Amino acid sequence: MNVLAPWLHEPLQRALDALASERLAHALLVCGPAHIGKRAFADALTQALLCRERVDGAACRHCRDCVLYTAGSHPDWKYLSFEENEKTKVLRKEIVVDQIRDLGGWFALTPQRGGAQVALIEPAAAMNQNASNALLKTLEEPMRDRYLLLLCESPMQLSATIRSRCQRIELQPPAMQVGLDWLRVRGHDDAVAQSALDAARGHPGLAAHWIEEGLLALRASVRSDLAAIATGRAQPLAVAAAWLADDQAEQRLAFAADLAVDLHAEALAARDVAAVAGSNRQAMRLTAAPDFPKLSAWFDAANRTRALLRTPIRSDLALAGLLRDWRIAMSARSA
Ligand SMILES: [Zn+2]
Repeated sequence: MNVLAPWLHEPLQRALDALASERLAHALLVCGPAHIGKRAFADALTQALLCRERVDGAACRHCRDCVLYTAGSHPDWKYLSFEENEKTKVLRKEIVVDQIRDLGGWFALTPQRGGAQVALIEPAAAMNQNASNALLKTLEEPMRDRYLLLLCESPMQLSATIRSRCQRIELQPPAMQVGLDWLRVRGHDDAVAQSALDAARGHPGLAAHWIEEGLLALRASVRSDLAAIATGRAQPLAVAAAWLADDQAEQRLAFAADLAVDLHAEALAARDVAAVAGSNRQAMRLTAAPDFPKLSAWFDAANRTRALLRTPIRSDLALAGLLRDWRIAMSARSA
């Protein structure tokens, strides 16, 4: 098993302490942003739940249960995620009610190895309405030694009734220095690590993802394209075509939405940020102060357009329209 990221140690220890003192709930909602380590956390906790020779409350890593779990073949562990539609052979985009009913049936069985039974639903937000309703039944009848782990980015993605029946575990980015040290141990150069960590607002897992997938250059190019549109040096239609030319359009829109958040935050922090050294506006040479209501509306529109990219709609037109609105939002008021 991989070494657990340092910011996961404390939440894991709290969960193990709760397990040791029989305060751990049967249903756990593990939430946190993408790349924070939800699955790694769930793996470590699951192994501890299945292990019957725990050392200091954590999995021993050597017993038969630990070996089976690490090999992915523990019979009392169940993983629920997207499944193939039996008729069309296409991977479904949601978790459906039959999967949750199967889970209820599975929990009713006697554990094959006589210990705990653990199920993981990932991503829990993918459960459709019927699946969520069916899950409530399972949550309402907790059974001894049965544990359910739900992974999601935000608890708000789940219904209030599901949330209220789960113990919540929030995974959060650590202090800046902890993230920097962790990136260094992964072999990343100090300057790259620092700028990626700043860009990722202190989230080391996300910074590592961006560095390791070469996405920092993409982020910079999105920002320079948006600066060029705002100042009239580039045309929305041409930029939209370029953004759709490969399979990175969704990531570009995520970076674009992120920039809107940064500009908004800067504006709230300082009334006139045009002259603030290192500000996004200065870096992008934007002279006009953005129109803030339009900027927040644009953030929502960028996220909606991102979702549209997954549908058969004419995404070039939708994207060009979004980029035209960007120019309007960025030039509505002069500095
Ligand atoms: Zn063990």
